[in-house]
Amino acid sequence: MTNRQAPVQKNDIYDVTFEDLTHEGSGVAKVEGFPIFVPNALPDEKAKVKVVKVKKGFAFGKIEDLYLKSPERTAAPCPIYKECGGCQLQHLSYKGQLDFKRKQVENVLARIGKLNMDDVTVHPTLGMDNPWNYRNKSQVPVGEREGGLIAGFYQQRTHEIINMERCLIQQAENDAIVQAIKDICSRHGIRAYSEETHKGWLRHIMVRYGVVSGEMMVVFVTRTPDFANKEAIISEITTQFPSVKSIVQNINTKRTNVIFGDETKVLWGEEYIYDSIGDIQFAISARSFYQVNPEQTKVLYDKALEYAQLTGEETVIDAYCGIGTISLFLAQKAKKVYGVEIVPEAIEDAKRNAALNGLDNAEFEVGPAEEVIPNWYKQGIKADTLVVDPPRKGCDEGLLRTILEMKPKRVVYVSCNPGTLARDLQVLEQGGYQTVEVQPVDMFPHTMHIENVALLTLI
Ligand code: SAH
Repeated sequence: MTNRQAPVQKNDIYDVTFEDLTHEGSGVAKVEGFPIFVPNALPDEKAKVKVVKVKKGFAFGKIEDLYLKSPERTAAPCPIYKECGGCQLQHLSYKGQLDFKRKQVENVLARIGKLNMDDVTVHPTLGMDNPWNYRNKSQVPVGEREGGLIAGFYQQRTHEIINMERCLIQQAENDAIVQAIKDICSRHGIRAYSEETHKGWLRHIMVRYGVVSGEMMVVFVTRTPDFANKEAIISEITTQFPSVKSIVQNINTKRTNVIFGDETKVLWGEEYIYDSIGDIQFAISARSFYQVNPEQTKVLYDKALEYAQLTGEETVIDAYCGIGTISLFLAQKAKKVYGVEIVPEAIEDAKRNAALNGLDNAEFEVGPAEEVIPNWYKQGIKADTLVVDPPRKGCDEGLLRTILEMKPKRVVYVSCNPGTLARDLQVLEQGGYQTVEVQPVDMFPHTMHIENVALLTLI
């Protein structure tokens, strides 16, 4: 495509049928195989589209006349849906979203992973009964307007902060406390950080809510380590919200759009809040990774456990284990679980969580999975079942090579990125595994994100 002239021209109008969605939720249509990305269009819709910009391998367009609408098109309930960009699929019915996500997983496995889809079952996406108010964590940038604090989100493609009072995918408790903190801090003269001048103090507010325990944590991300009117502010927060168990300050002195800095200190209460998934309790600290949709996390982990088919005799390795969430689920049914994770604080949390739940058959080691697991293998530690849950970039090649040498009978692959999942499944298939089934789980309703758990067995 690179050397030939684009078959479309700016300002021309084309009659198209949409086939797919981009990661930003724009519709994708093709003119002589050349993709045009068009906001607010859904698969199977037909429209007259005006080309607004032509790039090297693709173009952007806008709808002139949407003359055939999808039966799954619906009115987005959120009043700030378009400005925010945090959700991409609110204008598609929830059933339409679940069907689209399944189809997308199938396409990616076939196209990128070159898997023979006759041999692989991709199940219907497991969705939520009520796909709203699911997020247990709110993390908002803070700005100022007419002397008062505002917080919400950056308007799409800008760094202008839009004030948000309610987010429909957020737990109502989180929205309520963020609103109150804005108000309390404004009254106490707290100034917002400004990215432009690198002055001011409060950069972000983060709150986390343990949906089962009812415990809340508040994190202030600030430019400097001081805290004016600290006692008064804390006292007002804790009086208004008795569910707050922990108030933490994270200091980020740098001129950066990375949210957190290196130093974290507890201002009031505990270092952790607690929450449970199923029968397992977790202590969660300010900087630990914890899944944001607890209801669907249970669905995902239950599926991973089902695929692991444990009888109590197995040795299991959990790679990329975070605070030991999946490891401890598995430890209830396995003889022994080894977890590995690169963030030292997460491994400390994992060890604490094992003790908290009286699970003494789980062992954790800090380091890159691609180094720690080959070392274990050299020491004679061999998994019957191996679970991986890597970040978006997928598994390290070295880890995949070790899996092919170690030859666990089952590999359970938990993935938040279908593209890298497909790439890694292809490597494992070439090394003697068969992908048996893939279960998409909707962890992030109304967004383009989709989580999957795949089962592979050694042929
Ligand atoms: N299984 C956990 C965490 C999954 S997120 C859960 O469900 O909660 C992926 C994790 O991989 C993160 O905690 C990240 O810190 C960790 N990670 C990233 N690169 C890694 C590597 N090379 N080796 C081990 N862990 C890594």
